[in-house]
Amino acid sequence: MYNQLTPEIISMIQKVSDHVYTGGDISPDYARDEMPIYGTRMPDLAVQPRSTEEVAAVMKICYENNIPVTPRGAGTGLAGGAVPLFGGVLMDISKMNRILEYDLENFVVNIEAGVLLADLAADCLTRGMMYPPDPGEKFACVGGNVATNAGGMRAVKYGTTRDYVRAMTVVLPNGEITHMGATVSKTSSGYSLMNLMIGSEGTLGIITELTLKIIPAPKAAASLIIPFRDLRTALATVPKFRMNHMDPQAIEFMEREIVMLSERYVGKAVFPQELSGEPINAYLLITLDGTSSEEVDKLIEQAANIALEAGAMDVLIADTSNRIKDAWAARSSFLEAIMEETKLLDECDVVVPVNKIADYLEFVNEQGRKCGLEIKTFGHAGDGNLHIYQCSNDLDEEEFKRRVDAFFDIIYREATRCGGLVSGEHGIGSGKIKYLVDSVGETNMELMRGIKQVFDPKMILNPGKVCYKL
Ligand SMILES: Cc1cc2nc3c(=O)[nH]c(=O)nc-3n(C[C@H](O)[C@H](O)[C@H](O)COP(=O)(O)OP(=O)(O)OC[C@H]3O[C@@H](n4cnc5c(N)ncnc54)[C@H](O)[C@@H]3O)c2cc1C
Repeated sequence: MYNQLTPEIISMIQKVSDHVYTGGDISPDYARDEMPIYGTRMPDLAVQPRSTEEVAAVMKICYENNIPVTPRGAGTGLAGGAVPLFGGVLMDISKMNRILEYDLENFVVNIEAGVLLADLAADCLTRGMMYPPDPGEKFACVGGNVATNAGGMRAVKYGTTRDYVRAMTVVLPNGEITHMGATVSKTSSGYSLMNLMIGSEGTLGIITELTLKIIPAPKAAASLIIPFRDLRTALATVPKFRMNHMDPQAIEFMEREIVMLSERYVGKAVFPQELSGEPINAYLLITLDGTSSEEVDKLIEQAANIALEAGAMDVLIADTSNRIKDAWAARSSFLEAIMEETKLLDECDVVVPVNKIADYLEFVNEQGRKCGLEIKTFGHAGDGNLHIYQCSNDLDEEEFKRRVDAFFDIIYREATRCGGLVSGEHGIGSGKIKYLVDSVGETNMELMRGIKQVFDPKMILNPGKVCYKL
């Protein structure tokens, strides 16, 4: 259905780009993202463009010659989204990495899409500003964050990536350049094409530049590690903060086993394991921020009282930047720690209503046992986004996939029954299409395919992802 790259097409691409890689010069990293269980495949050619015009010129050649193109940021995705399933051209945007300009009167920053999240966050702070989205992987590109609508720890207070995109430059599959959105903070101006682009995982267009909303950085913050006897009590505490007019920046839950695993990985023990001889089985890790340290001190006191009244065993305060960093180091390393100790790994990032988290996790753990899988869970208690990892060191890959398939069928169905959705932040990629169909239904899938058809009538942009399994 697609054409092969011929020497003539390659030389046409080389005429419009000085950054073309073929054969043994193509990085093997391009064959995969961080979840290779969904398949790997090398592209036939890779481009690392330096400008929107260069992206557009390459895209136009691919469109005219029916060559598939897969956009890629840093390749940290967890759904197989950046894998060039049909070969063709890999469009690596990561070298378009300039922060272009701040407009502090309108509270926006203009960047190229390949800027790393870590670089943007740090640069904003030097101006007393904050870019609030804070997904765990800081070395992802912001363009990749937008393409997946990445969430992260601060989503409970500040929202997800979508809430911070004001405008973007997009190269369409036919090579045309278009601009969507504007610096303005509100719009009722027709269909929001920009919002279709956000979370479209490289299937509708290639994002090359972004205008992002930023906010004044909070002046003070503190984190609390709150140990509990059991996860249910920990989760039942979460709505009590809200009911008491508190608005934590982050509220994460974690169980004992994964905390220990991660602390082994980072080589530092910060979370207590027992109190007065009584084992701790679950934790909440919350961050509070405010405009002064006095305000944050008051918030700490209020949060500690609420937690203790709700059954917490203790409240540990981290109120210096080093202590906050230590408190979050283990949480931020959960995935790497699991990867380090696991041969075969798959992941589910369902989102369920917050009042269903405890029941849902009990269900998941029981189904994991029945399917003979080792399950590790953690997640964002404040917004119901759960990360459920299936791990194995002794099954062969075929048997592992068979069991995970059976497990996923059951747990995704249960998430839908609870009022949840397939992915809270990692996206659908190639790995989760089947569950998306089951969850949103054929009518909605047809609408998605119709949108794809309008943007990409030749189906050359990131084929086999989100709504099209070719
Ligand atoms: C340790 C770890 C922790 C993580 N924690 C979080 C987390 O807390 N929250 C979260 O949401 N995610 C998390 N992730 C997942 C991942 O970091 C995000 O999905 C991130 O947004 C991917 O960005 P990327 O630049 O690596 O994109 P890639 O992996 O390169 O691509 C992801 C998708 O976006 C498309 N794409 C990339 N760039 C563009 C572009 N410029 N234009 C159009 N399409 C594009 C690709 O085609 C692909 O479909 C984590 C991953 C790891 C490994």
